Amino acid sequence: MNKLLIIVFILLTSIANRGSNSTPIQASQKLLHDNHVHIMSPQLIALWKSMGIPFSKADPYYSDIDTIFNVIKAQSLLLISMAYVYSSEEFGGNSGNVGSKVRDENNYLAMAKSKHPKKIKAFYGIDPLQEFALTEIERCHNELKLDGIKLHHNASQVYLTEAVHLEKIKAIFEYASNNRIPILMHFDNSHRKFGKRDVGLLADSVLSGLEYVNLQIAHFGTSGGFNQKTKETLDAFIELFQSNHPISKHTITFDISAVCLDKDAEGVSKLTNKDFDELAEYSRKLGFDRIVFGTDYPLYRGEEYLNLLITKLKLSEEEVINLLKNKNDL
Ligand SMILES: [Zn+2]
Repeated sequence: MNKLLIIVFILLTSIANRGSNSTPIQASQKLLHDNHVHIMSPQLIALWKSMGIPFSKADPYYSDIDTIFNVIKAQSLLLISMAYVYSSEEFGGNSGNVGSKVRDENNYLAMAKSKHPKKIKAFYGIDPLQEFALTEIERCHNELKLDGIKLHHNASQVYLTEAVHLEKIKAIFEYASNNRIPILMHFDNSHRKFGKRDVGLLADSVLSGLEYVNLQIAHFGTSGGFNQKTKETLDAFIELFQSNHPISKHTITFDISAVCLDKDAEGVSKLTNKDFDELAEYSRKLGFDRIVFGTDYPLYRGEEYLNLLITKLKLSEEEVINLLKNKNDL
C-alpha cells in the first residue's frame, strides 16, 4: 500500500469508526482528484529547450499521459494544455503560425484524454486576446469534445481594466455560460496593481449577469506562493461571497496548487512558518468547500503535496476529506 492510501485509509477508518454502527468506507473511494496538472506536447518541449528553458526530468514526465498518471497517482486529473503560450512574447518563441500551433497543442491534449477518457477532464489553452480565440473554443468544445477552457492572464497579459480586454473576456464567459463550459483561470497578470479592482471587474462586469458559471481560480488567485497580493485577492472574493453578491450563487472554487510551497519555484519563494500559519488561516476563512486540491504537476507529486498541506496547514481529518471532495462537478 502506498503512503497516500495509508493516510486516506487511516483518515477514513477513524472517521467511519466514530459512529456506533457505521460501515467502514472503502479507501478506494477516496483517491485523489488532482485539479491542476500540465501536459506539454513534444513540440512545445523542444521549443522551450531551444529557448534555454531548463527541464529537470526526461521528456515523458511532461508529455506522456501514462507516465504522468504513474507519478501523480491520482484517480482523476484536470489536465491542462499550455496552448496559450504560443502567442506570448516571452514564452512563445515568436516563430509565427500561432493559430496552427495552438490547434496542435490542443489536439495533443485531446489525444491524451482519448487514452483515459473517464479519468481525465481536459482543459484547452486559450489566449482570449487572439482573434481566433472563440473559433478555437468552439472547435475544442464541439469537435474535440474537450471539457473546459484554461485561461492564463499572465501569459496572455490580460487586463480587465482595459475595455477591449474586458469585452473579449466577457464574450468568452458568455459562450461558456451558454454552453455550460467550466473555466480554469490563472487570474493574476503580474501587474503591481493587480488585486481588488480586478476581482470587482470580474464579479460585476463579467460574472454577475451570467446564468452558468463554473470557475476555478488557479493558485488561490495569484501566481503561486502566498503573499500580500494573494491575501488581498482572496479578501476581495471573500467579501463578495459574504455580502451575497450575485456571484455567490455560482460555482467558484480556488485551487491550492503551487501555493503551499516548501521549495522555491520559478522565481516564487517558499513560504516561511509565519506564511504557512497565515495560509491555514486564509484557507479556513475561504472555507474548504471552495478549495480544490491540485499539484500544478510537474511542480509536486500528488501524495507529496497532500502530505505537505496536511503538515504545514495542520489540517484536521474533516478538513482533508472536505478538501479532497470533487466539488466542481467535473
Ligand atoms: Zn499551472
